[in-house]
Amino acid sequence: MGMQTIGRPTAPVVSESGSVQTVSGSKGLLQHEDLIFEIGDAEKTGVDLPVPSGRADRLGGVTRQHATGLPGLTEPEAVRHYMRLSQRNYAIDLGLFPLGSCTMKHNPRLNEKAARMPGFADIHPMQPQRTVQGALELINELATWLKTLTGMPAVAMSPKAGAHGELCGLLAIRQALISRGEGETRKRVLVPASAHGTNPATAIQCGFIVDEIAADARGRVDMADLKGKLESTDDIAGIMLTNPNTCGLFETDIKEIADLIHAAGGYFYCDGANFNAIVGRVRPGDLGVDAMHINLHKTFSTPHGGGGPGSGPTVLSDALAPFAPVPFVVKDADGFHLVEDVEGEGAEAFGRMVAFHGQMGMFVRALTYMLSHGADGLKQVAEDAVLNANYIQARLKDVMTPAFEGYCMHEALFSDAFTADGIETIDIAKALIDEGYHPMTMYFPLVVHGAMLIEPTETESKQELDRFCDALRVVAERAAAGDEALKAAPYLAPKTRLDETRAARKPILKWTPPAPEAIAAE
Ligand SMILES: *Cc1c(COP(=O)(O)O)cnc(C)c1O
Repeated sequence: MGMQTIGRPTAPVVSESGSVQTVSGSKGLLQHEDLIFEIGDAEKTGVDLPVPSGRADRLGGVTRQHATGLPGLTEPEAVRHYMRLSQRNYAIDLGLFPLGSCTMKHNPRLNEKAARMPGFADIHPMQPQRTVQGALELINELATWLKTLTGMPAVAMSPKAGAHGELCGLLAIRQALISRGEGETRKRVLVPASAHGTNPATAIQCGFIVDEIAADARGRVDMADLKGKLESTDDIAGIMLTNPNTCGLFETDIKEIADLIHAAGGYFYCDGANFNAIVGRVRPGDLGVDAMHINLHKTFSTPHGGGGPGSGPTVLSDALAPFAPVPFVVKDADGFHLVEDVEGEGAEAFGRMVAFHGQMGMFVRALTYMLSHGADGLKQVAEDAVLNANYIQARLKDVMTPAFEGYCMHEALFSDAFTADGIETIDIAKALIDEGYHPMTMYFPLVVHGAMLIEPTETESKQELDRFCDALRVVAERAAAGDEALKAAPYLAPKTRLDETRAARKPILKWTPPAPEAIAAE
């Protein structure tokens, strides 16, 4: 018997607030599931092998003396454990996933089919290169598409996430500054207040100093503040700017910003996580960008979330291209080969970021996505993503408060100005769970009070958008009316309202076996 049974009712209980507790802990057809440590047992195993006899210790006496403490499960138990947990997950295959900045679009099954082809899925990174010419060609072909779509001359394919791509871009910038003899003097990186947290984190990781630029009343870079920071200085390494920015707005002064940064001797890093809004319509290379990562898992549709998998190829301008990390693919008379070392063709590379060449599975999915859409289809992706976000903004703006005036790009941003006193963004997010939706991105970007950022993407139909808006409208109206019941939502989720502060400040990250008394008490 696990600890969980303590305090469970002997008959179903419906509380005054509407939450339900069943005898089994399960609800509807959703099974209750304890921790794997509670259901598993070190003595249990999924295989039935005879204990080998006459075994000599060949480990020189370092054989483990004690049990590892890992729980054992039979195969059906293991399958059910993860199946039950998976049913608590929200998924893009279940419904609209409104998380802003994350581009949770449908992942076409064709991508999966291509990625599972043995020629891509079953190869080994240390295979002789002549036996993996197709895979190298695919990497090269994807690189060509990325360079074409961004209007940039070079791309580093190996970074394994957006944040990793940022690291790649800033390491290239640092290397370029070192090669100019200014590695020690140019240390300041400008980052707008609305930036994704990874931007300042990356800059600091690379040894730069972050200098925050204010946002103006239109949600864009405050040009007066920017110009002030660039006046008579020679310590600017560069700027990290997201476009469209994290407020879901196009930075209308972007070309002037690029010129100002270049005139000040710095480089322009663009966070390309929001490329979905402009792919096929705007080429960052035309805007003066020196480096930009592309989240293949966002713009080019590969399943992501919960930390992976990702892929963040980073396009580079002529100024930064020589410093791109190894390995990279080149084509010569004998076919494709990888430049692996910081010498010869890779002499100026800043180094290496990953063991091998990057995320092959993501590369296959992204190229499949591009080829199945074609150039015209990718342009329509951006157009429909922007249209869908504006539809959401239009359908909600009479009950919620848009953060900025006018049309948005690919995501609709609201502030909490419409809520009654005492009702906060988190209450709206939690109530949305009861209505069947994963919450939108909350409290980000920081420049908007109680921010709610919604990115529907282009893959939602009008029916799905309406279904979501209908649910959110009702919650928003309750928030405006000061409905106190929102404070305890969600009522229908397996876990109701948690103590967020305690969860953040004192998280219990380690399972400890129940004390013997507790077991005895059962
Ligand atoms: C997602 C995102 C990132 C980071 O990308 P990861 O792939 O999660 O590392 C950076 N900036 C912005 C604006 C993003 O939305």
